[in-house]
Amino acid sequence: MSPRTLIRNVTHRITQHPDIGLTYEAACLSCGWSAEPSPDGGEVDVECLRHAGRSNHRGFRRTAHSYAHVVRDGEDPVTASTVPPHPSARQ
Ligand SMILES: [Zn+2]
Repeated sequence: MSPRTLIRNVTHRITQHPDIGLTYEAACLSCGWSAEPSPDGGEVDVECLRHAGRSNHRGFRRTAHSYAHVVRDGEDPVTASTVPPHPSARQ
């Protein structure tokens, strides 16, 4: 008997991480200052306004991050065992 390799295709899909919403960040374009990342974009904007008030730096790079999760077709993303922990939990 010889060894055999069985190859099958499994459909995967990418979806928003079930436990993590958007995370907003901002950084000043004039210095190294950056806002504390937050799920609340309004809080990040207020931090930028405070920084602008103190420094007169008025340009900011704002980003919103989402976390994707790949699941096999038919797999529930909520119960999938491969769901990584929220990045803030590793700090
Ligand atoms: Zn600045």
